[in-house]
Amino acid sequence: MEIKDYVSKRKEVLHEQIASLARVPSLAIIVVGNNAASESYVRGKMRDSAEVGIKAETLALPESVQEDQLLALIARLNNDSSVDGILVQLPLPKHISEDAIQSAIAPAKDVDGFSPLTRFECCTPKGIIDYLSSEGFSFSGKNAVVLGRSNIVGKPMARMLLSKNCNVTVLHSKTLPEDRHFYLAHADLVVVAIGRLGFVDTTYSFKPACWVVDVGINRGEDGRLHGDCVPGLPVEKQTPVPGGVGLLTRLALLENLLEATKR
Ligand code: NAP
Repeated sequence: MEIKDYVSKRKEVLHEQIASLARVPSLAIIVVGNNAASESYVRGKMRDSAEVGIKAETLALPESVQEDQLLALIARLNNDSSVDGILVQLPLPKHISEDAIQSAIAPAKDVDGFSPLTRFECCTPKGIIDYLSSEGFSFSGKNAVVLGRSNIVGKPMARMLLSKNCNVTVLHSKTLPEDRHFYLAHADLVVVAIGRLGFVDTTYSFKPACWVVDVGINRGEDGRLHGDCVPGLPVEKQTPVPGGVGLLTRLALLENLLEATKR
């Protein structure tokens, strides 16, 4: 099933599940400064929440806000029993430590799944695993290659694939090109999350049955969004950009919030 159809079906189910709860789930979204991309992501999260019956509130703070003020706001939301989930839209201004802010969110309310103690899976890898599972991808014993090792995508993706019994290889910027070609040629599943437009192209060989998941979101010179892979790789399945992993990530956030509310 195409990702957009899968997501809209899952949202219908979520809507029903949320309607049957004793109370309306509530999400607090903190956004700092005026980053156009952040504002657009936050608008998307507000729209998604409204669609499935979640009460979401955006708390917008000026670029000049100090770390201790942000920490005080998080402490207030942590102690507010009417708030089920808290997320802080990244990136934050340079004078604020993202680690300190993420770690301050109560683990039971950290629905983005970024802090070390969070009770939730990180949204992007969770969204990918759930979708691949629903599509019938059988993980056990498969060669999975993750391109990129960031804390929010590559590393948690690798950990989750390992827990699904894949043979996991993580590649990064220090991997030699010839090794990258070798590993990709032997992969059953490739997850690409490096932030480089069209980096994985037709110079690579693939197993015909390989599945490619493209996490990258890059703005091209044409003003449009493009993935880290060129479209039309000679593989069994390749997720599109746009209309791919971004939708899965947004869905996983809603699912984490429902979970937070139930708990
Ligand atoms: P990041 O923090 O910038 O990390 C990029 C990773 O790619 C690093 O581990 C880096 O290796 C690696 N890398 C860079 N150049 C490479 C190369 N030439 N060969 C192999 N590895 C290379 O990025 P991120 O936050 O993980 O995001 C990656 C992309 O996914 C971005 O386009 C971002 O916008 C997108 N994204 C999409 C979603 C979604 O929902 N669709 C969610 C999150 C992110 P080193 O560690 O060696 O530097």
